[in-house]
Amino acid sequence: MKPRDRLRIAMQKSGRLTEPAQELLARCGLKFRQSRDKLFCFGEGEPVDLLLVRDDDIPGLIAEGVCDLGIVGRNVLREFQLSNPATGSGLAELRPLGFGSCRLSIALPQDEPYDSPQQLHGQRIATSYPGLLGDWLRSHNVDAKVVYLAGSVEIAPRLGTADAICDLVSSGATLVANQLREAAVIVESEAVLAGHSVLPSDERGEIAELLLRRLDGVIQVRDSRLILMQASRDALPAITRLLPGLPIPTLTQVDGAPDQVVLQALCAGSVSWRQLEDMKRAGARDMLVLPVEKMLA
Ligand code: ATP
Ligand code: ZN
Repeated sequence: MKPRDRLRIAMQKSGRLTEPAQELLARCGLKFRQSRDKLFCFGEGEPVDLLLVRDDDIPGLIAEGVCDLGIVGRNVLREFQLSNPATGSGLAELRPLGFGSCRLSIALPQDEPYDSPQQLHGQRIATSYPGLLGDWLRSHNVDAKVVYLAGSVEIAPRLGTADAICDLVSSGATLVANQLREAAVIVESEAVLAGHSVLPSDERGEIAELLLRRLDGVIQVRDSRLILMQASRDALPAITRLLPGLPIPTLTQVDGAPDQVVLQALCAGSVSWRQLEDMKRAGARDMLVLPVEKMLA
């Protein structure tokens, strides 16, 4: 592969992952100029370009070296690795990204009870994920027939082409609409940053490291809140015990009032009204809860 001095990231052109992936990259300070064919977007600030493709093509593009990184569902990445063991083994999940959550599950017709994987012996299971399903069946010693379907897996039992299905589920509404029910979860999935297990040794490696650091900062603070309040020193132990996630707060002395402090703490997750009210009862005043935009340790 020719050395390149710009990093190339593949992401879904249009689908569930497109908007959150774009937003995540924007939060990492990346801006892109969109070209007319909308397939390739040139990065304006940092030397990072985007390739907009079908999600299923992303692991292959990374494996072939066309792209360095990709934002893709764990389900798609793992399926590629299982179906292409030689090229897939060099790929890795570099970071979980916290959006696009879903499960790859086995579902049965609603009126069929389910108690164990063994019950699937001899059944026909329709799926677009033959690698993941096959792997799960083997690990549970179940001999079932995997029926590959590229799409519309959920109607297979009604059409009589399969006895069960193995498909992605998030709310479960599609299953209900097709008179199916979730029986077993095979993979818990979310969008991940995929790449080679070893970063490129040219300039792209450094850019990738910079991006990973920014990504960590964004992911770490995405659900964090900065909480500020005033209190008297003797109320501090009680208030600190109530801080969500029990962070270690920073204290600042209030000028001219030696027994008064301003407390500042970074809490993981949101802070509810109930929690604020409890802290107020414990002696906190003038409380502020702020979203956190960036963090660099
Ligand atoms: P394309 O192949 O055109 O890029 P697609 O139809 O395969 O699109 P989407 O339906 O947009 O893809 O799903 C992309 C990813 O979103 C899935 O691979 C999965 O990781 C995740 N996802 C989250 N919830 C769901 C869900 N309920 N159904 C399907 N995918 C889901
Ligand atoms: Zn797809």
